[in-house]
Amino acid sequence: MQKRKEPPSYSTLLRQIEDEKIRSLELIPQRREVKAVYQDGSSVTVPYYITPQQILRAAEESNIPLTSKDIRQEQAMAGMIGNLALILLIIVGLTFLVRRSAQVANRALGFGRSQPRVKPQDDLHFRFEDVAGINQAKTELQEIVTFLKQPESFIRLGAKIPRGVLLIGPPGTGKTLLARAIAGEAGVPFFSMAASEFVELFVGVGASRVRDLFKKAKEKAPCIVFIDEIDAVGRQRGAGIGGGNDEREQTLNQLLTEMDGFEDNSGVILLAATNRVDVLDAALTRPGRFDRRIEVGLPDRRGRCEILSVHARTRPLDDSVNLEDWAQRTPGFSGADLSNLINEAAILTARQSKVAIENSHIEAALERITMGLTAAPLQDSAKKRLIAYHEVGHALVAALLPDADRVDKVTLLPRSGGVGGFTRLWPDEEVLDSGLMTKAMLMARLVVTLGGRAAELVVFGKEEVTQGASGDLQMVAQLAREMVTRFGFSTLGPVALESGGGGEVFLGRDWFNQKPAYAETTGQEIDQQVRQLASQSLQQAVDLLQSRRDEMDRLVDALIEEETLQGDRFMALAGLT
Ligand code: ADP
Repeated sequence: MQKRKEPPSYSTLLRQIEDEKIRSLELIPQRREVKAVYQDGSSVTVPYYITPQQILRAAEESNIPLTSKDIRQEQAMAGMIGNLALILLIIVGLTFLVRRSAQVANRALGFGRSQPRVKPQDDLHFRFEDVAGINQAKTELQEIVTFLKQPESFIRLGAKIPRGVLLIGPPGTGKTLLARAIAGEAGVPFFSMAASEFVELFVGVGASRVRDLFKKAKEKAPCIVFIDEIDAVGRQRGAGIGGGNDEREQTLNQLLTEMDGFEDNSGVILLAATNRVDVLDAALTRPGRFDRRIEVGLPDRRGRCEILSVHARTRPLDDSVNLEDWAQRTPGFSGADLSNLINEAAILTARQSKVAIENSHIEAALERITMGLTAAPLQDSAKKRLIAYHEVGHALVAALLPDADRVDKVTLLPRSGGVGGFTRLWPDEEVLDSGLMTKAMLMARLVVTLGGRAAELVVFGKEEVTQGASGDLQMVAQLAREMVTRFGFSTLGPVALESGGGGEVFLGRDWFNQKPAYAETTGQEIDQQVRQLASQSLQQAVDLLQSRRDEMDRLVDALIEEETLQGDRFMALAGLT
């Protein structure tokens, strides 16, 4: 084996050549090097800086074999490999960049196949018992559960099960919950999507999402497909400013096509929820599509009690809490409101490190939900006295009028959002559940609403009234107008001059059909009647309060002192029990 030695200097090498210590020499001109192999087989490489002439001559004289090596080819090869590696690196880098930017663009524009929640949720643990207070709807939907469980018995009889069921009702009444419960009861996959998720910036994306959703649903049949807020795509076509929205209409068309493409009893049941059934396109609600409608309304007292019990199942209640009472005190609350009430009460209970929810916690939660968070109490001042008169004005008028709602509470504790105090009235349970109000009740409501302004007028005089009643005045204007134009409670006669519900352009109404359906003179008469109703009511409130000035002063003193008066105490102080 050859050994490498420490290279000698140029002159030493020359001497070694002359002394014949070297066996052979190899010249590498490209590197300006000479490789010398010694007699013992070891070798060295010595650089030369000018020319190898002396070496050549010495080698010749000493008769030492000398070869020359051309390494240009080797160098060229190495260069080429280097270049190739560089090109490869650039290509890989570019591909990476292009991919990344495509991904970012896709994400930013919501394009492509990013499909939220198109996956079915199989692990549904909701049951009908989790949905309380809407028994009518549950009974009707039970049929669908039976079909999903035993389709054969329906098919044998040639019965066709509805393909689409529309759940109609205000928000928070448990429509989504009901749909989940059906899937849970039947043990089938549940596809859920909000209709607004279909519609994207690009025309065609919505339609492709609908197609995708139905394709997946058919693969998983039997199953439930739930589309929330269907009015987001199902509004009347061709309506709105400028004639409508192409993307939405394409999505709707696709939905209609998919529904038609179902075979009978295919096992895919479509449920959709909305609270604006009036704006839906007629094609959606025709037989064969969403032909079954189920109303899911606000719960009545019994329903509210049941819903409260469902939500109290997992929370410890103090023995003193009677859910019946709370159901009575929460008229107009939806299931979601009640669930929120119990949750807020639980949070307050935890904050006080108590082990069970007490009545006081539910009371505080109720106020927080209906009135907002409490702010710091007002200092005793002229302002506080004015607010006290205003609130007592409302409450006393309500207490004096037989057709007005019952006084539940008057308080001076301010709330966030600039509310200085408030008077809470509870409508009669029966009226609320039936939704029917007499003319006398509505008139009383006008008078009560103006009670605050009336009290300011009676106590402080015409010049000292405040703008604090602006909210009240708005309510009065709205109610009085409805009484005249929709309920036929004026001398204009039993004609509906305006339609209810507003018919907003963006919710699927045509802009061009918005002009009023009455003559200009009728319009003036309406205004006059509205004004008359309002001023009559104010006068009535002023008269009532003037005759009870002493009681009013007494109540205001008590309110400033105690800050909150419950209904019973208020009535006792007013001498009205
Ligand atoms: P919707 O779909 O009608 O807007 P949800 O079904 O989403 O309302 O209801 C929201 C929440 O309110 C539910 O998760 C549930 O906690 C509660 N909730 C609503 N209605 C009921 C009900 N009838 N029984 C029990 N809980 C209810």
